[in-house]
Amino acid sequence: MKDLAEALALVLEGIEPLETETIPLTEARGRVIASEAHAAIDLPPFDRTAMDGFAVRAADVAPGAELRVIGDLAAGGATVAVEPGTAARISTGAAIPEGADAILKVEDTEVRNGTVIASADVPEGLHIRRRGEDLHAGDVLARPGDVLTVPRLSALASAGVAHVRAPRLPRLDLIVTGNELLPAGAPPEPGKIYESNSLVVTSMVSAVGANVVHHPPVADDFDATREAVERGLAGDILVVSGGVSVGPHDHVKPAFEACGVDEVFWRVRIKPGKPLWFGRRGKTLVFGLPGNPLSAIVGTAMFVLPALRSLRGEADVQPRLVKGRLGEPAGPSDHRTTFLISKLVPDADGVLVAWPTERQGSHMTGALGESDGFAIAPHGSGPLPAGAEVELLRL
Ligand code: AMP
Ligand code: MG
Repeated sequence: MKDLAEALALVLEGIEPLETETIPLTEARGRVIASEAHAAIDLPPFDRTAMDGFAVRAADVAPGAELRVIGDLAAGGATVAVEPGTAARISTGAAIPEGADAILKVEDTEVRNGTVIASADVPEGLHIRRRGEDLHAGDVLARPGDVLTVPRLSALASAGVAHVRAPRLPRLDLIVTGNELLPAGAPPEPGKIYESNSLVVTSMVSAVGANVVHHPPVADDFDATREAVERGLAGDILVVSGGVSVGPHDHVKPAFEACGVDEVFWRVRIKPGKPLWFGRRGKTLVFGLPGNPLSAIVGTAMFVLPALRSLRGEADVQPRLVKGRLGEPAGPSDHRTTFLISKLVPDADGVLVAWPTERQGSHMTGALGESDGFAIAPHGSGPLPAGAEVELLRL
């Protein structure tokens, strides 16, 4: 049995980001940039006004000064030259006209018969956004491995970047197994349970970024499982839920073997999720997740998502754990790193405090509904007191 960190290292070992493609920025949200992106232009690209008002020569302006209005400059429109004794009406974003060196804001003016009367002084440069004060052409906007978040997209778009290179989106095939599985919306049947893992795994991997290919649910039958696995091996990642234990109806491991998937490990020192299986066939990464819903969630968060991030080319591929404290004593059980279903509530200092729910267990999806994720009690830690610092898996 592997420790969590050792198992994760084995999963990540040797994964290379997928081949890159050029994509328009409009399709790049959440993708990972593969090469440095540089500003194509200065930002602002020219001196422009931050205010609606009048472009003036600062030396001309004092309370009571009268200036002849010689034009009306809109953002993106034509310009004029501002001579001594004149002013040009100007709207936010328009280029500062030749001759002007300050903006008299509209609130400090009164207009009468083609003349503007100032009611305030303006120092030189007032309300002018200078060319290049934000960025210079050539400045680095994103580095390889950066995820294209909304703030980064805004920077790239405004600096004139229209396309980026990014590793292609990984294809993740998802198969759920089990004779007992009922699809959502079906009437309840004796001995059957509602299938939830495909929804949960899809939600988790889609939030990171993958093309999910759903396969029809597979009965607990060797041939059916083998055929489904063979079809599912066409992508970058195959996730199979259920059937990876040692029962007489668990056909997933033999099916992996029959399809030529090489086992890297089976079983991890975690609770829930111990019978997790990982292997590879060629470049395809293959995960067998235990079917218990909490095991599937923990396995996805701790192994599938890091592998996915790695294929996507992300710089930081580690599970997204945050630090927090236990609200009450808790600890690992069965000498395994234990994921305790917890409410995570910030205290007065903003520290996230984990309050484990009374119900704990890999099947306790009801308890999961009251929680915000898990507090992680490492396998070697022994009982932990209230206030102990722990890592949290926030969902
Ligand atoms: P298994 O890993 O196939 O032995 O399944 C372990 C437990 O998880 C059993 O109680 C299954 O009924 C349940 N289970 C398996 N697959 C799913 C699924 N897709 N959705 C919800 N529960 C499942
Ligand atoms: Mg099963």
